[in-house]
Amino acid sequence: MGMMSDGGTDRQTDVIVLGAGIVGVSAAYAARQRGMSVVLVDRREPGSETSYGNAGILSSGSISPLNNPSLWNALPKYLGNRHAALRWNPAWVFRNPGWVIRFLANATEANLRPRATALHGLIGASLKLHREWIVKANAGHRIRETGWLKAWRTDAIESARAEQALLTEFGIHSELLDRQGISALEPDIVPVYKVGLLHTQTASVDSPGAVVKAYARMFAGSGGEIRQSDIKAIVPDGEGWRVMLADGAISARHVVVALGPWSADLLRPLGYRVPMAFERGYHREFKPNPARSLQRPIHDAEGSFLMTPMEQGIRVTSGVELTARDAPSSFAQLDEVVAVARGVVEFGEAVGEPWRGARPTLPDSLPMIGPAPGHSGLWLAFGNQHIGFTTGPATGAAIAAMIGGARPAFDVGPFSPSRYL
Ligand SMILES: Cc1cc2nc3c(=O)[nH]c(=O)nc-3n(C[C@H](O)[C@H](O)[C@H](O)COP(=O)(O)OP(=O)(O)OC[C@H]3O[C@@H](n4cnc5c(N)ncnc54)[C@H](O)[C@@H]3O)c2cc1C
Repeated sequence: MGMMSDGGTDRQTDVIVLGAGIVGVSAAYAARQRGMSVVLVDRREPGSETSYGNAGILSSGSISPLNNPSLWNALPKYLGNRHAALRWNPAWVFRNPGWVIRFLANATEANLRPRATALHGLIGASLKLHREWIVKANAGHRIRETGWLKAWRTDAIESARAEQALLTEFGIHSELLDRQGISALEPDIVPVYKVGLLHTQTASVDSPGAVVKAYARMFAGSGGEIRQSDIKAIVPDGEGWRVMLADGAISARHVVVALGPWSADLLRPLGYRVPMAFERGYHREFKPNPARSLQRPIHDAEGSFLMTPMEQGIRVTSGVELTARDAPSSFAQLDEVVAVARGVVEFGEAVGEPWRGARPTLPDSLPMIGPAPGHSGLWLAFGNQHIGFTTGPATGAAIAAMIGGARPAFDVGPFSPSRYL
């Protein structure tokens, strides 16, 4: 029995989307736009988890994943487990050697360009949707087209040039800056940076959580249904699927798993072993000094943190903590970078508590976007690592296209779930 009723006549729902982060909300909205009946389920309000706590960057240039060839040069300094960029839990690494080995094995020159090409296609399609949807969703005031500044304290001109060269290869515009150029862009920061690379085609938002909520309202406004409930299981049911909720069950022809870092859990009973790791990260927001404002997000390359001006204050986000998704928080990395950030821009006391999230990452740093190999009507949309807020819309829209038998706007081949499942 379908859960939606029309004048007393039950009808089968076309699609149930599990998870209302940026990926799920986008899949749901895109499916609705294609005329399908859609129920979007999350135990929390839309955009309350990973899609809430990120740095809000809509990055045109994040085509080179963390496991790129330069990881090998950085590895020795990460081994001591004291670097702000990466902390790792030895017990977790010991229990997950398969993921670690495959992640490192992807960090080769030969594997860089194919993945950059794949991500570039996904990112391009996604930025187009974000820029369209954010206006449609009446959240256009939240997007800032001021770019994203990566900045180095040392004479890192060669690193900046190398990064720029890769971007140029893909037609992504950026500008090299010296100390004066950086001061001209960000007059209120302390001039600690010697070299800068401005990603000019990158945008940012002042509240990623609010943007996801606006997209969810747009979905509901287009006739979609949002249901708040804990999802317990996904069960094959005749031609379609039955989704067991804490307060009932719903069925549909298609189910989309967009549960971010929780995606692997519900797929296990169906026989899928998803090789997902959790690049955890933290943020804390601070009261800005109105006389010392930031114009755009800044990535402190050597300090290994980001600072983004947000609606509630300056959000400082930390690097990667590789450990179990639900392991207790460790605030050492965040505390360390907050102290460094204070040396760049003056800000006041903390607004609210520190936040923790987990970037869901597969060994090749590409998300899974496509059909589950062993079942019909089961669609996978997760693993968007560091750039899921950017890539959510096109990830979701590609799934909706595939369900509708249409061609996605970018090449989904490299994202096929069958490469791991
Ligand atoms: C510190 C940090 C900074 C980041 N910065 C950026 C950035 O600047 N730009 C960028 O593009 N990306 C960034 N990211 C990455 C980005 O946030 C994620 O890739 C993205 O939010 C993932 O979205 P999602 O929809 O897959 O997952 P989520 O947003 O986590 O959504 C999954 C949803 O599933 C729900 N759920 C899970 N299990 C169940 C269940 N059993 N029943 C019901 N509901 C369930 C959850 O409540 C949640 O709402 C950052 C991440 C971190 C951690």
